[in-house]
Parts: sequence; structure tokens; C-alpha cells
Amino acid sequence: MNAPEPRSYWHLTFPITLETQPLPESADLVVVGAGVLGVNAAYAGARAGARVVLIDQFGPAEGATGRNGGFLTEGTALGYARTLALFGHETARAMWQLTVDNRALARQIIGEEGLDCWYRETGHLDFSLDAQDWEADQASVEALRRDGFYAESLTPAQTQALVGTPLSAEIVGARYTPQCGLLHSSRLAGGLAAAAVRRGAVLARATVTGIEDERVITDQGTITARGIVIAANAWTHRLAPVTRELIVPVRGEALSYAPHEPVFGPGMGTSVTPTGEYWQQTLDGSIVIGGCRAVAPNRDVNVLSNVATPGTQAAIEQVLPRLFPALRGLSVQHRWAGPMAFTPDYTPIADRAPGARNAWFAGGFCGLGMPFGFAFGKRLAESALSGSPSAGLRPFRLGRFAERAMP
Ligand SMILES: Cc1cc2nc3c(=O)[nH]c(=O)nc-3n(C[C@H](O)[C@H](O)[C@H](O)COP(=O)(O)OP(=O)(O)OC[C@H]3O[C@@H](n4cnc5c(N)ncnc54)[C@H](O)[C@@H]3O)c2cc1C
Repeated sequence: MNAPEPRSYWHLTFPITLETQPLPESADLVVVGAGVLGVNAAYAGARAGARVVLIDQFGPAEGATGRNGGFLTEGTALGYARTLALFGHETARAMWQLTVDNRALARQIIGEEGLDCWYRETGHLDFSLDAQDWEADQASVEALRRDGFYAESLTPAQTQALVGTPLSAEIVGARYTPQCGLLHSSRLAGGLAAAAVRRGAVLARATVTGIEDERVITDQGTITARGIVIAANAWTHRLAPVTRELIVPVRGEALSYAPHEPVFGPGMGTSVTPTGEYWQQTLDGSIVIGGCRAVAPNRDVNVLSNVATPGTQAAIEQVLPRLFPALRGLSVQHRWAGPMAFTPDYTPIADRAPGARNAWFAGGFCGLGMPFGFAFGKRLAESALSGSPSAGLRPFRLGRFAERAMP
């Protein structure tokens, strides 16, 4: 099976060339899916000394991970104020803290393994485009700071100081999180998969068609495993059918501009459309930008596709000229889309897969999987190897949807 088209900027600037191996008959841990979650689970398992097999239908970074914006931020897609309102103080704080710990773990692994994944802690700017937006951003910053997390509210002048081209008057301020980072998604996933292989993991290319007790059934044969991690995000429902209504595929689109003189240091985001936009300038000067799915029919919910569409792409192309009127010379080089997955409460799920003996899954990152991938990957590997839930997963349990009505 060929790699899915179209290729993203990340795929094209770092093709992953890791050799795959035949599926062995047994393992301590089988990980299904080699995105940011799966490569972390495989790496953690191999590092703990387990016999690990990492299986992907296409190869590492062929799902959302190799098609994303390359942001390693903090927090959930819902934002802190709404997470507090929905889950209560203790749970919201624990959720947020996990994403802070995730970044520390990412930094540690990238350093220890010497991963050349262009990781840099540039900070992240969220632009406010009107007074209501600005007030909400300030409230969010205050709530975060009250709970010991770090964020700042910036005036337009302070915001301008962090951007290398004049801002439109539409930008009335920003929320700034200086500790957030950017990276090269394909370099990260390829590097971490290679680190897992160096520590003894087997990388196999196969499509998993079912999980029955300790048996993982694939189109290349069956493998038995003491523990299983399902890291299939937008495809989770195929292996854990109970998640069909809870982890829903959503197409996200992006494009990259050809290398440009440096203008954007931090990662950036805003809401020109209600579903949001985000962009970063990479280390080769290219600008990767995505979002605008609000213009697609039904916001591309339930669309599992990598194909970019003219409507959403045209909307993305309007974002930078509108916000930075002096910016010249943008030339689109690559266009792509990728499979995100959303949950009803805009918060990921991580739990034991119902009906399976010792299979664990996480998914439904709602467009923000990097703040969870390292921490969840490690915890899912620990859970699958020990047979009991690792600390920190409880706030994300599947049972929360049955416990109370969701928005
Ligand atoms: C356009 C776009 C921009 C985004 N920007 C950001 C961002 O900047 N920051 C951020 O934090 N998040 C972002 N996201 C979301 C983020 O990319 C995802 O949340 C994250 O990559 C999910 O990682 P994952 O490992 O769970 O899933 P994926 O990366 O989707 O990996 C799942 C893997 O499972 C494999 N698989 C599935 N089913 C099977 C099967 N049956 N057998 C074998 N293999 C299987 C797939 O081939 C795939 O490789 C973005 C997403 C998109 C699409």
C-alpha cells in the first residue's frame, strides 16, 4: 500500500525511511498506530524493557501527526475557563497539569534521544480580534495564574514587539504562553519510532482488523500480546466500537508557503473563523498554516480524508494578508488535510477498551494531540504492561459521558 496522498510539508521535508519487519507471533506490548501517541507508547514500553511491536497501516506519521501544525502547546481545546466550568476545579487542574508534564517529558525525551526535530520553546501567541475575545482571554489568563499555570495578557504594543511585520488594527491584544513550543512533526515521529526500534521494538506495516482478548488480528497475520495500546485516533471506533459516537473523525486542512524572510518567531493562533486558525514559521523559513474548517459543509465533521478542498484552502489563504497587511511575497507550496478526531466535550478520552481483556486506548484530541501524546503514550504503555490504570488517566475516563449530560 502506498503512503496516502497528498504529502504534507512535514512528509516532504523529512520522509521517514525506517525499515519495517515481519509481524512476530507474540509480544509483551502491541501498539496499534504510529502517530505521536503510538510512537510514545512504543518508546516507553521498549525503554521499560518490554518486547514491543508497533503496527501501522501506512507507517509512522501518516495520520494526523504528520499533517498537523507542529505546535506543542499546553492545555485542552476547550480552554481553561470552560474546562473549569465543565469538569470542576480538581479535574480541570489535573487535566491541565498533565499537559504541562507532557511538555517536560517531551523536552526530556527529545534531549535524551538527541532527536533533531526542530524543537524550540518559542512561546505561543493567541490573538484577540475584538473586545469580547480580549476579555475572555484575560479571564482565562487570570484563571490559569490563580492555579499556578503561566500565561500573560499582552497589549497590542506588547504583541507587536513579538511579530516581525505590522499587525492589523483588528488585533486588540493577545494571550501569550512563553513556555509553549514548536517542532517538525515528521522528524519527531520518525525520530521517536527509530529510538523505540533502537531499544528493541519491532516496527511492522499491517492493518489491524480486530482485537480478541490477547489476539491482535491483522491482514498480515495474528500476534498475541500481554497488553495492547490502541493509538488509532480518528480510526479508534473501528477497533473499539463503543467509541463510535464519542471519537468522531473531523478533517483539518493546512498549507505551507515557500520559505520567507523571518517574520513569525512564536507559534500563533486566532479565530478569524469560529473554528480557529494557527500558523508557524519553520526553521527553513516556510510558513505552515491551517484551520478555517468553519467554511466547509458541516465543518467537515465525520470526514476521514487527507484531501484538501478549494473552499477551505481559499479561506486559509486569506488569513495572513488580513491580519498582517504589509506581509508580501507569500507563495503556496504544498496543500494537504488530515484526520483529527473530536469528542462531545472537546476533551480526549483515555481508558481501558471495554470488552477487551487488556487493551487501552486514547483518542479524540480535538485538534490538540501533541500536548497529550507523550504523557498519554507513557501512561497507556504502563497500563497495558501492568494491567491496571496508570496514575493520571482517571480525569479522561470513558465513563464520564454516562455520568452526566455533555454540552
Ligand atoms: C491539519 C491538522 C493540524 C493540526 N495541528 C495540530 C497542532 O499544531 N498541535 C497539536 O497538538 N495538534 C494538532 N493537530 C492534531 C494532532 O495532529 C492529533 O491530535 C495527533 O497527531 C493525534 O495523534 P495520534 O497518534 O493519536 O493519531 P494519528 O497521528 O492520527 O495516528 C494514528 C495512526 O493509527 C494508524 N491506524 C489507524 N487504524 C489502524 C489500524 N486498524 N491498523 C493499523 N494502523 C492503524 C493510522 O495509520 C495512523 O498512522 C492537528 C491535526 C490536523 C489534521
